[in-house]
Amino acid sequence: MKNDKLSLVRPDGLPDSASRPVVTPLSPSVVYASDTPDMLDRQYDGDLSGYTYSREGHPNADVVARRIDRMEAAPHPGTMTSSGMAAVSAVLLGLTQKGDHVLGGNQLYGRSLRLMQEDLPRLGLETSLVDPTDADAMRAAIRPNTRMMLVEVVSNPTLRVADIAALSALAKDTGVLLVIDNTFTTPRAFKAFDAGADVVVHSVTKLLAGHSDVMLGYAAACDADLNARLNVFAVTTGLTASPFDCWLAERGMLSFDLRFDRAQATARQLAEHLGKTQGVKRVVYPGRPDHPDHARARSLLGDNNCNMVSFEIEGDRASANAFTRAAEGISFAPTLGDVGTTISHPASSSHRALSPDQRAVLGISEGFFRISVGLEAPDTLCEVFTHAVRAATERR
Ligand SMILES: *Cc1c(COP(=O)(O)O)cnc(C)c1O
Repeated sequence: MKNDKLSLVRPDGLPDSASRPVVTPLSPSVVYASDTPDMLDRQYDGDLSGYTYSREGHPNADVVARRIDRMEAAPHPGTMTSSGMAAVSAVLLGLTQKGDHVLGGNQLYGRSLRLMQEDLPRLGLETSLVDPTDADAMRAAIRPNTRMMLVEVVSNPTLRVADIAALSALAKDTGVLLVIDNTFTTPRAFKAFDAGADVVVHSVTKLLAGHSDVMLGYAAACDADLNARLNVFAVTTGLTASPFDCWLAERGMLSFDLRFDRAQATARQLAEHLGKTQGVKRVVYPGRPDHPDHARARSLLGDNNCNMVSFEIEGDRASANAFTRAAEGISFAPTLGDVGTTISHPASSSHRALSPDQRAVLGISEGFFRISVGLEAPDTLCEVFTHAVRAATERR
């Protein structure tokens, strides 16, 4: 049979090369062709490994997921999702049933709180939110039908540190799954599985990818069966990740350790500096002895205090406006973990739905800011903040 290959729409693919690319190739292909129905059968049976359809899996997702698996010492291969919230959703919806109770930390990421408060109840699950720094309160909130508890190690924006050791013991005692959102702490500072997590989730969008140019999440479970269910649920509901995002995240993660170490060293320096800056009322930083969870932070994180610093200046919204305006070159933007330092103002963003009184209970005033420290020169950063604090507080 004459076969003019050039007239086919899809010719042979990549040219042969005895050498290989150093950089992981980006593989945007949605579908993967198998030779025969027999071969495809064997792929679906798991006798032969091979990709079929990219919602189900693709090389770029696997490359990033294996990298995070290694960092987290995950016992089974984790799943990449299209965002951190996709990972949280996969865990909360994929590993529960109608009638289950889900216990959550009371200062979870805003959308996780919303999922707990609005969506799970709509689907017939019970939820309650409790302070995860108080293990007795968490224990008291366990019900016979409690299926899991979802906590973050360090809370946003008040940087409270959950009592993970006690919560892990409580989980073992009661058979409740401990789900840890390790986004803030990252596996560089905190090995969640070692600390007793049954399930670990990440917003890879933040520190791991680190450049604010991808949205991505990750979830993995300690138990093989739960881990497989997580993956199947993410694939079925289409929560899985795109090749391009995974490809970019892999590149970002090549420098993750260096970025994290540098950012947390600068954060320590900035926290000390702010503590001595006139006009700053208080600094919230787990590495400071005046932090309410200082001792726990040391025992859980060792010398790591992550890259987040919160602080409060005197004044009202006008002072807050003056502060962000004067902090030139620092993005006032609701994210964290970027290579550049970002400032967040919880009263107008993450905590805007709360009343001023509710915010006051958390210590979140109009003068309260959270900083995600990036890779700027530490001295320059300290100067910019001194200037901005002065601009905000001297105008009063
Ligand atoms: C940002 C964030 C999420 C959600 O991640 P996205 O990638 O934005 O969907 C979940 N948990 C924590 C702690 C976060 O900071």
